[in-house]
Amino acid sequence: MTTIEQLQDTLTALGLAAIEARLETLLERAAKQTPSYGDFLLEVLREEAEARRQRYLKTRLQLAHLPFVKTFQQFDFGFQPSLDERQIRELQTLRFVHEASNVILLGPPGVGKTHVAVALAEAAIRAGQAAYFMTAHDLVADLGTAYREGRLERRLRIYLAPKVLIIDEMGYLPLDALGATIFFQLVSARYERGSIILTSNKSYGDWGGIFGDPIIATAILDRLLHHSTTINIRGESYRLKDRKRAGLLTSARDSPAELEAARSSTPASAAPPARPKPARGSASAGVDERS
Ligand code: ADP
Ligand code: MG
Repeated sequence: MTTIEQLQDTLTALGLAAIEARLETLLERAAKQTPSYGDFLLEVLREEAEARRQRYLKTRLQLAHLPFVKTFQQFDFGFQPSLDERQIRELQTLRFVHEASNVILLGPPGVGKTHVAVALAEAAIRAGQAAYFMTAHDLVADLGTAYREGRLERRLRIYLAPKVLIIDEMGYLPLDALGATIFFQLVSARYERGSIILTSNKSYGDWGGIFGDPIIATAILDRLLHHSTTINIRGESYRLKDRKRAGLLTSARDSPAELEAARSSTPASAAPPARPKPARGSASAGVDERS
């Protein structure tokens, strides 16, 4: 058996697949550049370490259940001047994750709430943290089923484990009394233990309508907001912008929610900002909007 063959066998036995895949290239380059033993060993091991890092990243991204993977590089801050870039940069340091503090993104449909939430989750995952994404509706439905089957405690653990839990589209659909209680339990259990990134088209004043009960809404907001950053995104729907440009604005495909959002949005400099409509009656428009 040649040295190369023995090397390949040993690398296979040790599960060092990345080094094995590039073995000949690594050896050829070393023969040409004659690095020190230390530098050569370092280069070889880094090959494996980097491949492993990429593999873990991919797995954690899959486990996070994100609806799409988008980053801040793909976010056009120029289109959304109401967004405070400094505030976003601060969040990108991920200090909020280490402090188990929450991020609440508020604004009308299409302004990039989910995009920013996903980009923060991606950054956290890249930094080695676990994240999990759920729409508020699916989350409450899942926990409701668990409750009826007498296994709520156990199911809750799934949503307590990741350092970052993204709850998307809070408020598009109102919750019933059980849903509100379950949501309160989840927020209480994560309080000061793990971050929640939440998106909603409802301003805080309208949360009583989501939960059907101002007392539970206050209790939830109390815990959610104690350590938190609120980001209000005002302005136009990014989706609508593309359609406007294509001259399709009057097409039947336009969702009432986005047309409403476009109509009520104000320029960033104008005050007061456009506020999302109250819960009642807007649920069906919300369903149209989901992406
Ligand atoms: P929301 O959650 O507020 O309804 P999304 O985050 O789903 O809106 O944004 C709608 C679509 O537009 C997504 O594909 C998102 O990536 C894109 N988008 C929104 N705002 C921006 C922006 N400022 N720059 C780039 N893409 C954006
Ligand atoms: Mg969204």
